[in-house]
Amino acid sequence: MAESKSNELMERIVSLCKRRGFVFPSSEVYGGINGFWDYGPLGAELKRNVKEAWWRSMTQQRDDVVGLDATIIMHPAVWRASGHVDTFSDPMIDCKTCKGRFRADQIAEIPCPQKPSKCVAECHGEKTEARAFNLMFRTTVGPVESEENLAYLRPETAQAIFVQFKNVLETSRQKVPFGICQVGKAFRNEVTPRNFTFRSREFEQMELEFFIRPDEVIQKLAGQVAAVDPADPLAVLRAPVATWGWEAWHKYWVEERLRWYESIGLPRTSLEEYWQTREELAHYAKATVDILFKFPFGTQELEGIAARGDFDLSQHQKHSGKSMEYFDEEAKAKYIPHVIEPSAGVDRLALALLCSAYTEEEVADEKGRKETRVVLKFHPRIAPVKVGVFPLLKNRPELVERALAIRDRLRPHLSVFYDESGAIGRRYRRQDEAGTPFGVTVDFETLGEAGPELRDTVTLRDRDTMQQTRVRIDDLLPLLLEKIR
Ligand code: ATP
Repeated sequence: MAESKSNELMERIVSLCKRRGFVFPSSEVYGGINGFWDYGPLGAELKRNVKEAWWRSMTQQRDDVVGLDATIIMHPAVWRASGHVDTFSDPMIDCKTCKGRFRADQIAEIPCPQKPSKCVAECHGEKTEARAFNLMFRTTVGPVESEENLAYLRPETAQAIFVQFKNVLETSRQKVPFGICQVGKAFRNEVTPRNFTFRSREFEQMELEFFIRPDEVIQKLAGQVAAVDPADPLAVLRAPVATWGWEAWHKYWVEERLRWYESIGLPRTSLEEYWQTREELAHYAKATVDILFKFPFGTQELEGIAARGDFDLSQHQKHSGKSMEYFDEEAKAKYIPHVIEPSAGVDRLALALLCSAYTEEEVADEKGRKETRVVLKFHPRIAPVKVGVFPLLKNRPELVERALAIRDRLRPHLSVFYDESGAIGRRYRRQDEAGTPFGVTVDFETLGEAGPELRDTVTLRDRDTMQQTRVRIDDLLPLLLEKIR
């Protein structure tokens, strides 16, 4: 019962995304292509806002992180060094009867309608043994389709950061500890793309590699490595100190990331931390925390934050023959820095924001009749449109003229949607569904018809409370900027 309710909710969210232009199936006129999605006008704005908020918080608001924008296709040796050619695979099984292809580790999550305990997707056909299926998309570079020209579409953005570590270090004048971040497309030939955009074959990542001193260097330099106090783990948030080792930095980034999610409107209660067990950890990882979001289809990963030691840089040093060592002037020592990697998915986050924002409310219309109001309660910071501007009536040129003037005044500073068609209540509802946090209406009071004291004022409607307050036109811009910041 609970599950069918969640499915229904998910269906309503997917349908809203299509109806309002957040997300469409890729190449839909040709029947779509499994695992690929396009973002329509509102979705494109939402994603841009998410990426911009992440980039701002990582780079512009910090002194110790710089950005990178690398290519999607890199030298194939990168993927041999990183281990992706040999080990980036999922176990895949085929059904001999229905010809379905499934990820062996996920098949238990796909309930069989007839024999739930058997858990096969559509039928009870005989299954093949699990085989490793490499998730990287392959292509060839240049006109000759040969093995030597083989290249891969990157399955993550992180490796470009490692291979450019030295160039960035030398040109940015950063000193360890510091980070390099990147936002960009990644591609994985997922065996079973599903749950709408959650598991796609083309998606975007926002990744940070934060390079730190190895614990031994800190120990030598400061005589001790700061321990994370289990009684007060948040103490690590009180400004980084030189004695932090990988554990403190790891905890710090987990907290930073959780706080960032809250700052764009995902309540802490919708998130969970999952600490991978020793058995689950990659062989080089010291710790990995997944930040999970409670999606209607289950609590699933939004971001992974891994303490990866010096694995990646060492691998590239070994395979390229180029030194990845850093000379630490203060410690008077050369070493390969260790790394903490917060790695998030833009599309999963956009989906989490949509799910978290989606609300249905019973309200009364102008005539007092009950109706369901669908509203996306996005945080103003990431809402695709910040303010709707409406003349009360479209057939009164004096109202339209004032409304257009307000739109033009606000437009250089925030995204504005002007709408004059239909009853004002309908226009509010349309913006509620788009998640627009504010609505400005020009009415007869604006023109001074109700007396001079209300002249040059408009109503400002709050999407969530539906309350309207009168505001002077001259005060609108600073007021809105303050609320959206
Ligand atoms: P999963 O276990 O769900 O396959 P993962 O652990 O392989 O994910 P990572 O390699 O840690 O994922 O990638 C970092 C982030 O990139 C993930 O937390 C997720 O937000 C995003 N991501 C990874 N794979 C996909 C995908 N197929 N579709 C959308 N986003 C993805």
